[in-house]
Amino acid sequence: CGIVGIVGNSPVAVRLVDALKRLEYRGYDSAGVATIHDGAMDRRRAEGKLFNLEKRLDAEPLAGTIGIAHTRWATHGVPNETNAHPHFVKGVAVVHNGIIENFSELRDELTAEGAVFETQTDTEVVAHLVAKYLGEGLEPRAAMMKMLNRVTGAYALAVMLQKDPGTIMAARSGPPLAIGYGKGEMFLGSDAIALSPFTSEITYLVDGDWAVLTKDGATILDFAGNEVSRPRQISQTTA
Ligand code: GLU
Repeated sequence: CGIVGIVGNSPVAVRLVDALKRLEYRGYDSAGVATIHDGAMDRRRAEGKLFNLEKRLDAEPLAGTIGIAHTRWATHGVPNETNAHPHFVKGVAVVHNGIIENFSELRDELTAEGAVFETQTDTEVVAHLVAKYLGEGLEPRAAMMKMLNRVTGAYALAVMLQKDPGTIMAARSGPPLAIGYGKGEMFLGSDAIALSPFTSEITYLVDGDWAVLTKDGATILDFAGNEVSRPRQISQTTA
């Protein structure tokens, strides 16, 4: 399973899927990609191998210079297209590796408030929580941080908002997640291998870190909202 993201200055969909191929070694049962283009968020997802996702993208390409993508190894909910990430809730897109341990309490709470769940995954609560907090008027960063303080378990997360098409937010609590520095573009990936075609300048997030990426750089914070500093390293992995 794996995560990639690009805040770029040229189309990202094909590059995201190429990066996912470099994470195939981790295993997966389905895959998906989402981008934002002209103010609209859209996605393609497919069960099975990345070849199936590529066929979908060939038939119906996705434009856009910002996007997130995912290979899923199902833990909650069968591996089908509906349960494949990215999950969309009210302009919030989420990809996740790991397990949200308290998803069932959160789902009950959100359902009681009127939320309608489309998937059987543990992940979908993340998208609903961020959408709920944005709906209450919180700024994107505050909504992300409030969500992070509600969910428990192991996760690498990437979140993209339709209303904020220049930013990807990411968080780590368990599975690895790396930020890659490009020229006028920023990258996110489960490891340096995924990012090796794009950049060798990498910062690994530490557990309990979350980050805000724009094409000009990244801000890394803790779950209380304090900025933290993490070393930038040159990855020895070559494309
Ligand atoms: N627990 C999530 C799911 O089943 C993510 C699985 C993964 O790590 O790919 O959808």
